[in-house]
Amino acid sequence: MTEYRWHCPRCRAPIDDDRGFVAEYWSGASTSFVVWCATCQWQGEIVLQDIVTTYQRAEG
Ligand SMILES: [Zn+2]
Repeated sequence: MTEYRWHCPRCRAPIDDDRGFVAEYWSGASTSFVVWCATCQWQGEIVLQDIVTTYQRAEG
């Protein structure tokens, strides 16, 4: 498993063996993580991306 310091995307609590669960898995060329936070009970999937394209609204 790749070494990351995990924090919950909702409550920012650290996630480790005592405070949640992270499991890495692969599908084709994608790397994904199933994450559960024991602090706020959030669970979901995080997918690594090589490129992220996003939109930024003009200011003003
Ligand atoms: Zn949380």
